[in-house]
Amino acid sequence: MQTQPTASHFINGEYVEDTSGTPIDVIYPATGEKIATVYAATPAIIERALSSARAAQAAWGAMTGTQRGRILRRAADIMRERNHDLSVLETYDTGKPYQETSVADATSGADALEYFGGIAASLTGEHIQLGEDWVYTRREPLGVCVGIGAWNYPTQIACWKGAPALACGNSIVFKPSETTPLCALKVAEILFEAGLPAGLYNVVQGMGEVGAALVTDPRVDKVSLTGSVPTGRKVYAAAAEGIKHVTMELGGKSPMIVFEDADIENAVSGAILGNFYSSGQVCSNGTRVFVHTDIKEAFLSRLAERLGTAVIGDPMDPATSFGPMVSKRQLDIALGYIEKGKAEGARLVYGGNAIDGDGFYMQPTVFADVTDDMSIAREEIFGPVMSVLDFTDEDDVMARANDTEFGLAAGVFTRDLARAHRVAAKFQAGTCYINTYNDAPVEAPFGGMKNSGVGRENSKAAINHYSQLKSVYVRMCDLEAPF
Ligand code: NAD
Repeated sequence: MQTQPTASHFINGEYVEDTSGTPIDVIYPATGEKIATVYAATPAIIERALSSARAAQAAWGAMTGTQRGRILRRAADIMRERNHDLSVLETYDTGKPYQETSVADATSGADALEYFGGIAASLTGEHIQLGEDWVYTRREPLGVCVGIGAWNYPTQIACWKGAPALACGNSIVFKPSETTPLCALKVAEILFEAGLPAGLYNVVQGMGEVGAALVTDPRVDKVSLTGSVPTGRKVYAAAAEGIKHVTMELGGKSPMIVFEDADIENAVSGAILGNFYSSGQVCSNGTRVFVHTDIKEAFLSRLAERLGTAVIGDPMDPATSFGPMVSKRQLDIALGYIEKGKAEGARLVYGGNAIDGDGFYMQPTVFADVTDDMSIAREEIFGPVMSVLDFTDEDDVMARANDTEFGLAAGVFTRDLARAHRVAAKFQAGTCYINTYNDAPVEAPFGGMKNSGVGRENSKAAINHYSQLKSVYVRMCDLEAPF
């Protein structure tokens, strides 16, 4: 497959290059080989993207929702038709196994385009009767949106931000993570091919400085970031200067509670999905697994047996179920936490090592006897390192589960229905799971509480974050004034 894109940026309906920007090498995580080079956006490229987005937005916002939705749904169809090629590219960009990318990336992006394409025609204001007078509200676009992505789900993030923005009549400039710059260009190409007018979905490459230049530009009305909490703080503060709308999808250190009456096989499946999918590089992962002491040893031994069946290897092989980390840097971060876990007294029960070779591979890793104060239980690792903590009492474990700055997700495994809902109600987290983990359907709101974020992506809730209401008061009789 050709991994070098036609050019680095996609602006105003075409590929655009400017090799005077800083070169960014794209590395295939499975081999460490360079597979493409793109160039960071220069001020001239940023200017071109923002002025195209600004110029194209008014006519798009004035179209009917049905017209806008038709284009998004067509893009969803094209995306599904090209799922194989898009999945291979996603695997090159991120190193995630094709077994995952073929069912979780372009497919999830297409779901977002289809869902928001379908909803576009039903976006309305309301009529509010006030005696003889009345008010009507108009749901209007925000204007120019900026999307900034993380590297773990480059196609999905480009669509989760683009689809609702476009459905509501906005234009968007999207900056992918510098680690995974390839996939968003394909999203732009497909939208354009589906009939999206030029200038409405632009992609510019670059590091944090490019993101910062976009966020502070006065022509930008809304910023949606997927990234870490420290970046979120900076971007939120910069957006506040211009009183811009924001959505912040940030990090997590989510709890998963496995009660003594849980189906152990399902709980182990949840722990695997919530710790080792995408080699653990998922924001909502349930990395603090609280297991009731009565079933702890049974849980740990079944987990180890099942981890032993993971197929670690070439991510392009459909049999491979566990791929490399996205980068050497991310690999080193995860390995560093393994050393901290050992030094702080946790018991290593599975994995713990890098895997020799040119790629950025490590073993899925499990620590038991983890305590709440250890670094591996408090800090987001963003790698395949699971911490198992003991508990016996429900009230005690709830307090411990919520004792974190984060609030992205949380899960509970139990056969007791009343307990499951009681626990879900008490979790301080934006997405909670009962007897499952890490599902993220487009129909459901997704986002964080506490430091994990602001606003929600997906579902009808996202509409409120990509549009604004105007109230129009209509007087039906003569107007009295004091003088
Ligand atoms: P990161 O915070 O390092 O970078 C995210 C993006 O922000 C990148 O595109 C980067 O170039 C850009 N950026 C950096 N500094 C900036 C600045 N000052 N102004 C504007 N843009 C700037 O995160 P990452 O390492 O790419 O991704 C991993 C993090 O993302 C983890 O914390 C993970 O939990 C989080 N994440 C959250 C979600 C979610 O939906 N909540 C999803 C995926 C990842």
